[in-house]
Amino acid sequence: MGDRGFTGSLADMADHWARVAPDRPATGNAGGRRLDFRALADRSAQVADALGDTAGPVAYLGRDSAVWAELMVGASRRGVPAVPLNWRLAPAELARVLEHARPSVVVCDAAFLPSLGLEREFEETVVVLNGGLVFVGEYDAWLSGRPTTIERRPADPGATALLVYTSGTSGRPKAVQLTNGNIAANLASSAPWEVGPGSVVCVPTPLFHVSGTGWLFYCLGRGARSVFLTDASPEGVLRVLSEVGATHMLSVPAVVQTLVQSPAVAGADLSSLRTLIYGGSPMPPAVIKEAAAALGCDLVQSYGMTEACGPITFLDADDHRRGGPRLASAGRAADGVEISVRDPATGADAPAGTTGEVWMRSALLSPGYLGDEGDNARAFGPDGWFRTGDAGHLDDGGYLFLTDRVTDMIITGGENVYPVEVENVLADHPDVAEVAVVGAPHERWGETVVALVVARPGTAPAVPELIAFCRERLAHYKCPTRVDIVGELPRTPSGKVLKRRLREPSSAV
Ligand code: ATP
Ligand code: MG
Repeated sequence: MGDRGFTGSLADMADHWARVAPDRPATGNAGGRRLDFRALADRSAQVADALGDTAGPVAYLGRDSAVWAELMVGASRRGVPAVPLNWRLAPAELARVLEHARPSVVVCDAAFLPSLGLEREFEETVVVLNGGLVFVGEYDAWLSGRPTTIERRPADPGATALLVYTSGTSGRPKAVQLTNGNIAANLASSAPWEVGPGSVVCVPTPLFHVSGTGWLFYCLGRGARSVFLTDASPEGVLRVLSEVGATHMLSVPAVVQTLVQSPAVAGADLSSLRTLIYGGSPMPPAVIKEAAAALGCDLVQSYGMTEACGPITFLDADDHRRGGPRLASAGRAADGVEISVRDPATGADAPAGTTGEVWMRSALLSPGYLGDEGDNARAFGPDGWFRTGDAGHLDDGGYLFLTDRVTDMIITGGENVYPVEVENVLADHPDVAEVAVVGAPHERWGETVVALVVARPGTAPAVPELIAFCRERLAHYKCPTRVDIVGELPRTPSGKVLKRRLREPSSAV
């Protein structure tokens, strides 16, 4: 599909590739259900037929699977939104999400029926209508015998194709409406990776996040194959990468770190792997260098968010090869994306080079959160600008350095401390595997800097030594006054450290 041909309609994409390359693998699990482009188009038409005149969204509650691809494209044929649900949520949390998204149909992996408050009577994926009121039965039986073509209207660029919840790192997850137009803008973006027919992209991130589902529709639009992983252990990921001959792998820093530190990486066959794409949270330059050496492929970083339907800046392979201080940045804005850094309090442009809140504007930007007037008014500013909630600064070459969430900034004795700066220093220490830095209340200074460190296996770092290590490299007020050695850091499913959890009084801090 030429760049001009991206309508953003998932159904148009599926039909295009079903015509051009019907037998080519489209999507599915390594070792599980797999679809070629013809089967994806056919089964999605059956989904659309089964949906009938359904007006509400179609939700999916299940692990990463080709079923979600069929549903997403099927919903697109009917012009209704598709919603991937977070299967890690507790029943009460899920009930709130369902109340909010109001899906007409929930297709549910049998394993998660108890999360919907239903007894587990089936072994396969099942279909539940009206949020659990009417029970239909097995998903395959729901589709069986239905026609594989349906008539449909041309896609409306402003219509919501997907409803994707944010990760909830800073609070309650918000439901972002992503339109056909947003998807078209994502596909047309000049991303610095060559993904096209013949590419095999490993997508280990959950499909209920924008990074997972974003990559699924990106591969669909580009005629590439997407492969989901159910085994996220380093050995499992490495096995799949070589088995499927992955050309691209998408990952979050927490997974990259375990991968490159795994003894299995030395013996893995990664000869087809061209590019590792990472993002979602900061990755210390020390880990970037380790990853480049261990994987022997290009690295590309992307910075993005659900509200922007995917990435907005890139640190490309050349930037990684050049190295230097810009390795600590998230790269430069993609074509068609404007970035500005503003005073978090007033919204006025921050002087060049100073840290402030990152704002963005682009055709990628969602029209807003579903039914959330307060958050819409707070985040979606005038003239199409969106405040990301991230803190950062731009250098003279337009490279964006993210320093954390605006709300994670530590103010100690009137000085601002950006946790990422301290984390990057500690990550350079040979005994440190993972680190998170947060502010803890302090009687005199308001807040003080506290580091939580996970030690590398086989090491036992001494706290005074870690503090001294920081003092040699950072201004005194930025150095932790306390370092806690912990077993692990609390993370979201996409691997982000839950700093708000670390700041809670009941936690170790
Ligand atoms: P919530 O909005 O509910 O608090 P969230 O912001 O984590 O959750 P997502 O939309 O999934 O939800 O993630 C986007 C955020 O992830 C960005 O705003 C940024 O904080 C972080 N992020 C993404 N890419 C990068 C990156 N390359 N480097 C640093 N942080 C990143
Ligand atoms: Mg966010």
